Amino acid sequence: MSKLDTIVKEARTEEFNQYISSLKIEIQEAYKENDAPWIICFSGGKDSTALLQLIFNALAELEKEKLTKEIHILANDTLVENPEIEKYLDEQLSKIKIYGKNILYKHAPGSFFVEKGKPELEERFWINLIGRGYPSPNRWFRWCTERLKINPTSKYIENSLKKYEQVIIVLGTRKAESANRAMSMNKYDNNGRFRDHTLTNAKVYAPIAEMSTDDVWSYLLLTDNPWCSDNMDLLEIYGNACAGGECPFVIETGTQSCGKSRFGCWVCTVVDRDRSMENFILNGEKWLEGLLNFRNLLYDIRQETNQYVPSRLNGKVAFGPFLLRTREMMLEKLLKLQKQTGIELISDIELKYTKNLLDYDKKARINGNMKKFYYKTNNGKVIAVISDCDVSKTHRERLGSIHLDKIELIESENVTNKYEKSTRVMYYKVKR
Ligand code: SF4
Repeated sequence: MSKLDTIVKEARTEEFNQYISSLKIEIQEAYKENDAPWIICFSGGKDSTALLQLIFNALAELEKEKLTKEIHILANDTLVENPEIEKYLDEQLSKIKIYGKNILYKHAPGSFFVEKGKPELEERFWINLIGRGYPSPNRWFRWCTERLKINPTSKYIENSLKKYEQVIIVLGTRKAESANRAMSMNKYDNNGRFRDHTLTNAKVYAPIAEMSTDDVWSYLLLTDNPWCSDNMDLLEIYGNACAGGECPFVIETGTQSCGKSRFGCWVCTVVDRDRSMENFILNGEKWLEGLLNFRNLLYDIRQETNQYVPSRLNGKVAFGPFLLRTREMMLEKLLKLQKQTGIELISDIELKYTKNLLDYDKKARINGNMKKFYYKTNNGKVIAVISDCDVSKTHRERLGSIHLDKIELIESENVTNKYEKSTRVMYYKVKR
């Protein structure tokens, strides 16, 4: 008998049923507490599925005339989602919509919404990685979460707040997911049902905060899914591993996130290996191999370079963008992969924007391979930049931690031989 079978078997008790009933009563009370619409964040993962299932089951037990509050199911599309997960999520959303409008809110279908947030063009992955040369994200420079996940959700919430005095953001975050998660949840805990969100008049409600991972799986596997999905499909995505990290729905910068998720982006380099994609390939989705290889390339490029400041620079380096030649190489390989797979990996509008940004830097291309430039910043400090283009001639306002819009070039020197293996621009303060 597998570990999961044992967990589920052990949950077939009156005690577990009572626990689930108490959670449903709590959700019903919270629903009735005020008129503020609920924005339920749904990633398709086990926690948000358990959350939504619990909410739907709790609300289905209330009299229809009491279901007057608007319900918004909000998913997020980073536009670099794992294609298999994206397909699964889209299927779930369309079933949820049918269930919500035709069954749960049949009396008021106009009050039930299913939406998917997307990042603004400026904030999309390829535009920043290839167009602007941001290094592939890692734990210390995870520029993507805010742009791809937090901002689209915040925008939806902000727009909702223009229409309503208050909104409740309902999350499937759980303390048992990780020690960090528990710490960040405890930090905001006000011992009340709702905690404040950083956006004024938005409150956060996390009804399954105390549920264990075993409870989540037991509930999912012992209860019928209201929108007629089979939770065994979800289990399959987790590769029959009932433990394992989950990317929470990220709504604030303080939230620990992503990386180890089975529901993350296919380009994610925050983790050393993308075990989720590896799992899909092992289970027969061979066509994902090209995507995995490309992700590994993004990871390797970042690893090949000196990730940290060489000690001779006293540890005072802020990393800049990838070199122009690296970005051109990435775009070429991405377009080739897109052709091979036949699926859209970069949209036409993103490609156009990315090419424009590359063209800008090409105008500042240096004849020869690499140069070291010394710049004086507007606060009087001197920085050195090793690059294959003169970054002060590009239209970036900010690279790494240095603002380059008003810096003055003092001098430059050729460093071709010394730095030719470097694949990224480095900035550091210089004592002169
Ligand atoms: S899954 Fe990875 S790439 Fe995607 S937003 Fe999270 S950290 Fe960034």
